[in-house]
Amino acid sequence: NRRDRIRNFSIIAHIDHGKSTLADRILEKTSALTSREMQDQMLDAMDLERERGITIKLNAVQLLYKAEDGEEYIFHLIDTPGHVDFAYEVSRSLAACEGALLIVDAAQGIEAQTLANVYLALDNDLEILPVINKIDLPSAEPDRVRKEVEDVIGLPGEDCIPASAKAGIGIDEILEAVVKKVPAPSGDPEAPLKAMIFDSLYDPYRGVIVYIRIMEGTVKPGEKVKMMANGKQFEVQEIGVFTPKPVPKEELTVGDVGYMIASIKNVGDSQVGDTVTHAAKPTAEPMPGYRKLNPMVFCGLYPVDTNNYTDLREALEKLELNDSSLQFEAETSQALGFGFRCGFLGLLHMEIIQERIEREFGIDLITTAPSVIYEVTKTDGEVIEIDNPSEMPDAQQVDHVREPYVKAEVMVPNEYVGPVMELCQRKRGDYLDMKYLDENRVNIVYEIPLSEIVYDFFDALKSNTKGYASFDYELIGYKESNLVKMDILLNGEKVDALSIIVHRDSAYDRGKIIAEKLKNLIPRQQFEVPVQASIGQKIIARSTIKAMRKNVLAKCYGGDISRKRKLLEKQKEGKKRMKSVGNVEVPQEAFMSVLSMD
Ligand code: GDP
Ligand code: MG
Repeated sequence: NRRDRIRNFSIIAHIDHGKSTLADRILEKTSALTSREMQDQMLDAMDLERERGITIKLNAVQLLYKAEDGEEYIFHLIDTPGHVDFAYEVSRSLAACEGALLIVDAAQGIEAQTLANVYLALDNDLEILPVINKIDLPSAEPDRVRKEVEDVIGLPGEDCIPASAKAGIGIDEILEAVVKKVPAPSGDPEAPLKAMIFDSLYDPYRGVIVYIRIMEGTVKPGEKVKMMANGKQFEVQEIGVFTPKPVPKEELTVGDVGYMIASIKNVGDSQVGDTVTHAAKPTAEPMPGYRKLNPMVFCGLYPVDTNNYTDLREALEKLELNDSSLQFEAETSQALGFGFRCGFLGLLHMEIIQERIEREFGIDLITTAPSVIYEVTKTDGEVIEIDNPSEMPDAQQVDHVREPYVKAEVMVPNEYVGPVMELCQRKRGDYLDMKYLDENRVNIVYEIPLSEIVYDFFDALKSNTKGYASFDYELIGYKESNLVKMDILLNGEKVDALSIIVHRDSAYDRGKIIAEKLKNLIPRQQFEVPVQASIGQKIIARSTIKAMRKNVLAKCYGGDISRKRKLLEKQKEGKKRMKSVGNVEVPQEAFMSVLSMD
């Protein structure tokens, strides 16, 4: 029976523990690619991903493996994104598998995302095969890590496969373990169709390509199918598998993982997690666990050059084709003119979109400080949700405000427990729990407002722990907080794009820091510019940008030509990212600076 020879699995790991390298080794061993086709880190398709070393888009490859028992097995290796912003997509791609290879770096041990991924794998009832990678490193401590796997995750230490993806050690053992330990898929090929979408992407020539795992039933080209989330119907044009080239097939049946093309125009109609079924003979129940992805972080994107407004709209429309979790709508700022309010799954998602707009579409952007969604109950009882601080009603109309909280888990070596707790406290965190992983490492758990995480928590954490901390978080809900809107005035004019929402207790300190920071970030103008922070009508902090001296070049008394040129170039560079706000030239960094504390 063909189905008994199918193995569907993912590789899960904390970032940099060697997931992509191991995937490359597996691709080599299963000779899915000729050496010419073989490219380092084949599964990370986009340039940006490669540069940042992260995986954004899920992928599924079919591989053939001749096992020691003499049988040929059909492997589907399903790639998962490695970042918390994409946790839901990770979970859905794991739901397409029966097993997961859990990679743990032999020198680093278990990190925050190792654990987060293990939880997701357990939620999906996967067989977990632990692999201790990088045993070739001099600093490798496979025995310590083995014990950690046993103590922290609860898997038998002797099941860990020691390996080096880089040196090609342990790869055969890993592939044999996949054959022996990952269960074959189950399900009835005659039952009504139940196929789960675990990814979809827009191809300019073929329309939407949907990645599916068949849980029940069989699907063939020419059939009418239905998306269970929105009821929309499509005719299947082509189905097939990736090897990683797309190879069309006559049918996909129980346990198969592949693609479907069905003249779908919009990725929004093929949502990750949704179930595809036959229109004529639908399944009774969709796959459990589907939810619509809602953006959690919002910011304004404005073209530096107002002439680029239409280009920016087109860029966002193009990106949206491939990213159903990106949201945007036109917005106008008094300070910045015409732009867009955009919603993202998280900070990384936001950065990726910004970078792609600048890089692939060549549009320079002004980005406003990211905001979460606040729930405001007004004194007249009306409850509104705002994702832009400038929409906050006047203080006397606000009864109370609630904000989203996350549960944050930070793993650090002992000696950094103090600095981490201090940071969490400073970020308005509530202490929940602390556990020792071994003699040297601790897992610290806090509840922290999401708004405190979105800006510089990660950077602050890194610098407070010399990079030794790893961090993961999940949204837990809304809580009431004493929040107020703080406005910033430049030259007496309120700049809407600089307004932020802050906790009342820290408003004075924040106001002072921001006024000081803007003073340093905004270059001197022809005239003196007062910078003020206010809550309502009340000014709470002030600084002054002194008027410019006559000529910057006057500073480089005569001679040094190269220094002069550098200065001019620097000015030009600076100009590019300046935005005139009223009659003040404001550099792009200013708009992001309002959220950081130090
Ligand atoms: P990912 O973020 O989990 O996909 O990790 P990568 O596969 O990109 O690997 C991160 C870094 O670790 C890269 O520089 C790899 O070359 C290196 N690496 C991966 N596996 C090994 C290994 O077995 N031994 C050593 N020494 N380095 C490795
Ligand atoms: Mg990778």
